Amino acid sequence: MSKPGPKPFYHEGIRFECQGSGKCCTSRGSYGFVYLTGADVKRFAEHFSLSPAQFKKQYCGSKDGRVFLIDPPEARGDCIFLENGNRCGAYEARPEQCRTWPFWPENMKAKTWRREIASYCPGVGKGRLHTREEIEAILDSQEEN
Ligand code: SF4
Repeated sequence: MSKPGPKPFYHEGIRFECQGSGKCCTSRGSYGFVYLTGADVKRFAEHFSLSPAQFKKQYCGSKDGRVFLIDPPEARGDCIFLENGNRCGAYEARPEQCRTWPFWPENMKAKTWRREIASYCPGVGKGRLHTREEIEAILDSQEEN
């Protein structure tokens, strides 16, 4: 069921299908962090045959209780797992933040969506229609994490 209140700009749904551009995996100003939930760390650790502690030691930093993928100088602001500028080197284990792109709470304001997200991400407007209900379920799932 949709949330009560005024209709959001996406009330008729939004088409989105990843085009493999890697744009959401590269740094753009303040959007430079890939944050990880506990489940993400566990999934990544299994993917790399490491313990969660080993994975965190090798690939993570933390601040204010939030764990994120490190960004070594050689990655030049791109995700540490991005290969050839457009391919996720750990796609099957990619974290929640990557799975829920572009439906992030901070993206879902009409102006931000049109000016930044839609003009930046080539997957917007392509592929399957994501209904308002689906989008809101994705947004809610992030609030729970
Ligand atoms: S984990 Fe993979 S999908 Fe997520 S930002 Fe890094 S390269 Fe992109």
